[in-house]
Amino acid sequence: MSSNNKYDTIILGGGLAGLTLAMQLKQQNPDISVLVLERRGDSAPEAAHKVGESTVELATHYLREVLNLKDYMDEHQLPKHGLRFFFSPKHKETIHKRVELGPKVLLPVPSHQIDRGIFENDLIRMDRELGIDVVMGAKVKDVIIADDAHTVTYEVDGEDFMQTSRWVVDATGRGSFMKRKLGFAETVNHDVNAAWFRVDWKIDIDEWSDDAKWHSHVEPGLRYLSTVHLMDAGYWVWIIPLVGDKTSVGIVADPVIHPFETYNKLDKALAWLEKHEPQCYHELKKKEKDGNILDFKVMKHFAHGSGELFHTDRWTVTGESGLFADPFYSPGSDFISMANTWTADLIQRDLKGEDIFFRTKFYSEVLRALYDNWMPIYINQYPLWGKTQVMVAKIFWDWGAYWSINTLLFTNNGLTDLELLRKLTAGPTSILQKYGELSRQMQKLFNDWGPYDTADITDRYTDPFDLDFLKQFQEDIVEKEFDRDELLLKFEENMLILEHIAAETFRLASNLAHGTSMEIAVDPYTMSLKGEKLESKNSKAVLRDAHIADEMRHMWLYPYPEPVTY
Ligand SMILES: Cc1cc2nc3c(=O)[nH]c(=O)nc-3n(C[C@H](O)[C@H](O)[C@H](O)COP(=O)(O)OP(=O)(O)OC[C@H]3O[C@@H](n4cnc5c(N)ncnc54)[C@H](O)[C@@H]3O)c2cc1C
Repeated sequence: MSSNNKYDTIILGGGLAGLTLAMQLKQQNPDISVLVLERRGDSAPEAAHKVGESTVELATHYLREVLNLKDYMDEHQLPKHGLRFFFSPKHKETIHKRVELGPKVLLPVPSHQIDRGIFENDLIRMDRELGIDVVMGAKVKDVIIADDAHTVTYEVDGEDFMQTSRWVVDATGRGSFMKRKLGFAETVNHDVNAAWFRVDWKIDIDEWSDDAKWHSHVEPGLRYLSTVHLMDAGYWVWIIPLVGDKTSVGIVADPVIHPFETYNKLDKALAWLEKHEPQCYHELKKKEKDGNILDFKVMKHFAHGSGELFHTDRWTVTGESGLFADPFYSPGSDFISMANTWTADLIQRDLKGEDIFFRTKFYSEVLRALYDNWMPIYINQYPLWGKTQVMVAKIFWDWGAYWSINTLLFTNNGLTDLELLRKLTAGPTSILQKYGELSRQMQKLFNDWGPYDTADITDRYTDPFDLDFLKQFQEDIVEKEFDRDELLLKFEENMLILEHIAAETFRLASNLAHGTSMEIAVDPYTMSLKGEKLESKNSKAVLRDAHIADEMRHMWLYPYPEPVTY
């Protein structure tokens, strides 16, 4: 066994999380010594490597601005045209009849469709150019955590090696090295499964219909660049374009409605598509021939928690070795961006001699709170995926909340601003507390609303940027930089807007379900479609905001309620 260097940090696993963290550390501090140990021996295959191809606003900011990969992303990966959803479960043979939700014109915030194989190969090259030691074919076998220096043992070509370091970061993905070693896995009450494959040809959904009106909705070429979601009760199917005219196709489904065994092999997945997404199936069949489906993979019960995140003994977990929620809305790389940013901050401060005990604990708490606030978006919600109006309202809400709070916090360097975080989290009336409560109320509302959303709605196009508050939330991400006080003020303003959106969503839902007036006062923190009193009389009740009500007409697919019915 050989032993030599003492590194500042050893990163276990060189996937997306590990390779980007190494880059972040070295860019922040060129003198830091970093070793990445990656089990895979060879270059990653292009196209058919890993899932995690679609990025959204927060992770895009991390890649383009924090890691300064803007030019690389523009040159080597595809630009993305937002997330795009198709509903109307009775019209799955005819794409132009389905209610479509997605941006019409290019978005203010850029994002990308990433070929993970190409990206990881390029990240390894770029990391090495920065002076990071990346050892391929290195399987981590043991980690001993100690007061002075941690010891990592790994194997390359049958030979054992040992290195010591001040910090260890577990980025082994689902290998979850530290979790397995120390036993801090946590189960999450969200049971959803997935299967996916990559095809060696370009799937352009724009070619699925000749309908002129449908084509007129979106600038030519932009539908192709979106992450397409085909939706119905209990599932969504993704279509993601990749560079080099390849495409990723996936099925993500709740086993209560779509048992895993019905799509867990390629032939079964194709048969499942024929039954549940027939147009998608027929389009695939037109081009499928021997060898041009590149791979087929599955993952059961992918959501998982983590009892440890950032540890005061100078080790952390990041990426899928820590927490994972659900791929709907593509938040995987967002969580990597956040955990990496906190990890890098702790390491750099510690190396400068700062006492990081409190920060370490606090960062763990905030990450856990963000994850806990995020999970209700998915838990027990998959049956709603076939409810057209509820889903349009839900997606607009989920985006609004994500852009106006989570993304804004990240893009303004709020994650490592202790004073800001304290103000955001202290006490039951703090912004993050209220945000979490409001999010839970809204997810409950969508759930209760589902049974009332029964109309067969077709031939409609809805664009989030027709609602000016959503457009403003997006523009704030790229157009402005906020200092601490401005950011706090902005969060307060955004929370007020979110409360009004919540209350107006409730009025619309309650009108549809119970025929109540559109003028009722609503307390967004206690509202309930199942409540005895649908109108709130307490001091927190929100009166109707004419502007928000007017904007929200754009997302309403049923006949708009008459002025007063109650
Ligand atoms: C169905 C599905 C769809 C998804 N879609 C998206 C999406 O569209 N967008 C998105 O942002 N996220 C998505 N995700 C999440 C995304 O895949 C993950 O967030 C991301 O790949 C995790 O990266 P990672 O670096 O943590 O893990 P990985 O990329 O898995 O990297 C871990 C690395 O550690 C190595 N390793 C493991 N054990 C050892 C060991 N003992 N020694 C050395 N090396 C080791 C492995 O070889 C691997 O390279 C999706 C997830 C699922 C389940």
